[in-house]
Amino acid sequence: MKAMKVFIPLVLFLLIFSCKNNDFTMDATPSTKDSVWHTFKIKNENIRVLETNNQYFLAEDIVLSKDQFNYLSYFNAEVKPKSLVTSDFIKLWPSGKIYYTFGSNVSNTLKTEINSAMSWLSSNTPLSFALKGSSNSNYVTFEASNVNQSPVGMIGGMQVIQLTSNASASTAIHEILHSFGISHEMGRNDRDNFVTINTSNIYADKMHNFNKVGVLSSIDVGLFDARSIMMYPAFTTNGTFAKDINQPIIIPNNPNVVIAPSYYPTATDLLGINMLYGNEKPYVDYTVTYNTVYEDWQSGSYDKEVLYKFSLYADAAKTIPYIHNYPVPIIIQAYKETVHNQVEDTPQSFKQSILIPAGQNSATIVGRDMIDREYGNIIFLEKLDYVAIKNSTHYNYN
Ligand SMILES: [Zn+2]
Repeated sequence: MKAMKVFIPLVLFLLIFSCKNNDFTMDATPSTKDSVWHTFKIKNENIRVLETNNQYFLAEDIVLSKDQFNYLSYFNAEVKPKSLVTSDFIKLWPSGKIYYTFGSNVSNTLKTEINSAMSWLSSNTPLSFALKGSSNSNYVTFEASNVNQSPVGMIGGMQVIQLTSNASASTAIHEILHSFGISHEMGRNDRDNFVTINTSNIYADKMHNFNKVGVLSSIDVGLFDARSIMMYPAFTTNGTFAKDINQPIIIPNNPNVVIAPSYYPTATDLLGINMLYGNEKPYVDYTVTYNTVYEDWQSGSYDKEVLYKFSLYADAAKTIPYIHNYPVPIIIQAYKETVHNQVEDTPQSFKQSILIPAGQNSATIVGRDMIDREYGNIIFLEKLDYVAIKNSTHYNYN
């Protein structure tokens, strides 16, 4: 997936949302007479949580802890009951490392898929895994089940990731990413700009799968990605989900866009993971190049392309290129200054995120520097303010 939504400070929610192939199943949440719907109004969005059998479901496959449920109540309350909230909504795993154990009902076949999932994530992201030792009090137990399901974020103590006996490595990655704090791509704040939820074809008791949980987070990372491993597919074969399985449940606003989750995390999924768990602090250097695209010596008018090339290094001397086999996100803050007819406009500050692609140590952004004498005097300049790597480090330039 491309874009990710990350729950930050309070709630670093990574909404990386994309889906994958047909082997991703949206599991049926038990719907009984004991089921109760809770609706939380947050930033004008209704967040629906299904309570059933003393469990709280933020989505079909995302189970909330009692603390997280209370957090939503707190979020929603007119008068904040101060004693209610004992934790932030999403907790991250220290150093991006999950300690795990297998339940006794996990077959060797399923174990192979889970190991393959962990191996892929270890090789391609800052995330890592280790078998639980006696000193690890926070850990994941993988259990075989009739549903695919995970908590969101680190709950504290033992938490269970449930997987069906025929779950693929891809499904295991999807559920593991929930435990790392990542939600569904279609829960992003901006999803309505890219897709339309076909509500008339979705059973009412499945609507919580389209909770716009982005309202709980404070940052969007990257662009909406219809191929995210955290996206639900356009069509479902699950008859308990869609009233008519021949009709889509999610429709792309751009008919050329294919809504189908990828088998492995996409570049944008990796971007979100890195925003949450990237903790390395590479050294940054940049060069500025001006390409003249128009120049009139008589009037003095010109238009120049300004290329900022960023390079990352592993050492302070900037001799060892910093290269990963996953993309490294960088956030740049820059100023735009405009002078029009000799009058200065208020400078505007803006942020732009760029990606250092996998296998490379540099990326380029393009700005503009112009003078147009015909219309008086327009000068447009972008000045760098700072560069931020991942979510933790700022590099200041002066
Ligand atoms: Zn999910």
